[in-house]
Amino acid sequence: MGDYSKATLRKALLEVFEESEILEDEPMSLYTTFEIGGMTDFMVEPTSARQIVQAIEAARKADSPYWVLGCGSNVLVSDAGLRGLVIHLGERFSAIEVDGVRITAQAGATNKAIANIALENSLAGYEFASGIPGSVGGAAFMNAGAYEEEFKGVATNVTCLDSSLNVLELTNEEAQWGYRSSRMAREGLIVLSVSIELHKGKQTDIAAKMADLKDRRESKQPLEHPSAGSTFKRPVGYFAGKLIDDAGMRGHRCGGACVSTKHAGFVVNDLNATARDVCRVIEDVQGAVEEQFGVKLEPEVRMIGFEFGDEPPAHDCKVHGHRH
Ligand SMILES: Cc1cc2nc3c(=O)[nH]c(=O)nc-3n(C[C@H](O)[C@H](O)[C@H](O)COP(=O)(O)OP(=O)(O)OC[C@H]3O[C@@H](n4cnc5c(N)ncnc54)[C@H](O)[C@@H]3O)c2cc1C
Repeated sequence: MGDYSKATLRKALLEVFEESEILEDEPMSLYTTFEIGGMTDFMVEPTSARQIVQAIEAARKADSPYWVLGCGSNVLVSDAGLRGLVIHLGERFSAIEVDGVRITAQAGATNKAIANIALENSLAGYEFASGIPGSVGGAAFMNAGAYEEEFKGVATNVTCLDSSLNVLELTNEEAQWGYRSSRMAREGLIVLSVSIELHKGKQTDIAAKMADLKDRRESKQPLEHPSAGSTFKRPVGYFAGKLIDDAGMRGHRCGGACVSTKHAGFVVNDLNATARDVCRVIEDVQGAVEEQFGVKLEPEVRMIGFEFGDEPPAHDCKVHGHRH
């Protein structure tokens, strides 16, 4: 980002977007379920694959970093915010089409919207994702999963953009999904759309399963506080929440962030927490669990923007981000 300047990026964006479509100095706390994060220089919300390409070209022309964001439900954005451009894939890029048992959705469609459309069409198989508060692009990128099911179990194809801005059509196998991982994450591909294949079911059964999973989430998870869901990946052979609890870290607090007292697997923002507060809780929990049980907890939450001025998270707290 050698010569990056806001003025150059603004000018490049104005060649593609109307002035009213370019948000400047937007607080990222408004776009993340943690409700944390400093400002981004610019944010746009493209309406088509072509506009996504044009936004990236504008960023590259201005020598600016850029970031792709869905619902912001699995990210911790630094207090210093993000320099450059956030490409927000949301409502304006969220068309959903049903063709028999197949549903194709643009990346910004939410899991909830897809699950509801599946229900309307008596299609079973996406109930597990109905309560995952992200976009389908984020679900493909993360291989989101819940209640013993994962995104890879229903996906047939993923359409992506590679770093040369070519469109790639990946089959399920080519997406190389693993536990909360994918080829898209490893190679920094941008998910444009996804097709999933469901099966015919009884509408009442589908509705009942969605309602049951919703109840289970509401009774177990601290949904009353902002968070990014499970903070840590499940270590092989253990449950992160139980390890954290057994290490005596339930309720452990740094500033406005703490380990939830309702579910120790969640770090929550319960009092105007900063990203730094969350990182400190994460580091303390990692330290306590490793010291007592010899298990290294790896964050599932992706940390972005920490190179712009905040104290970086501890070395074993990987800095992620869809930065190109
Ligand atoms: C209360 C709560 C409960 C949760 N429960 C679950 C759960 O049960 N199971 C589960 O797996 N997760 C869960 N999560 C985490 C989160 O919802 C998922 O990881 C979700 O898939 C993230 O989607 P998103 O659109 O919010 O992605 P974001 O948070 O916006 O982004 C996450 C990562 O994906 C990248 N990304 C997003 N969209 C694209 C795209 N189109 N192309 C390329 N990269 C992209 C971003 O750059 C970023 O690196 C929960 C979160 C919360 C807050």
